[in-house]
Amino acid sequence: DMVEEEFDTEVKVIVVGNGGVGKTSMIRRVARGLFTDNYRKTIGVDFLEKSMYIESLGEEVRLMLWDTAGQEEFDAVTRTYYRGAGACVYAFSTTDRDSFEAIRSWRAKVEAEAPGIAAVLVQNKVDLLDSSVVTPDEAEALAQELRLKFYRISVKDDVNVRPMFEYLVEAAVAKA
Ligand code: GDP
Ligand code: MG
Repeated sequence: DMVEEEFDTEVKVIVVGNGGVGKTSMIRRVARGLFTDNYRKTIGVDFLEKSMYIESLGEEVRLMLWDTAGQEEFDAVTRTYYRGAGACVYAFSTTDRDSFEAIRSWRAKVEAEAPGIAAVLVQNKVDLLDSSVVTPDEAEALAQELRLKFYRISVKDDVNVRPMFEYLVEAAVAKA
């Protein structure tokens, strides 16, 4: 018969970084349009579902985009947040030096709970490059040290968000 069943690949994506770097905005940007219906509130953890067609894979991938929901402000991100993650965005802000310095510590936390998962290093708010507190050289050096692909993005202006996610999802599916 001609009936074809679809079994979408599913990837849990976590977005980590200090408060204020733009994590929630990023998740909303990626999942645009599905926000009202699919936003779930669990115990301090939110996630959004989003199906994304990945050109190089020729298939739809179902993303579960997990938000820390402010827990990061109190260093209270639960293990549930990291558990079962297949992809991770390490995010810092162009205008927040502490958020850049904190990336190594976020990496250690993620690696403790979800070792070896696909990940990218992201500098958000490049629309504010004029008031940058992180040089291009040190950002690239950190990416090299952590062996992460590095993206400069602006969630606000929708610059590079989609390419970054496509790369991340491809990398995650390749590892799965
Ligand atoms: P979170 O605490 O990491 O979840 O960060 P939010 O998503 O709540 O964003 C913190 C603030 O940064 C908000 O006022 C956002 O509107 C702002 N923001 C997020 N992304 C950008 C960006 O790309 N450029 C600028 N200029 N502001 C941004
Ligand atoms: Mg947030």
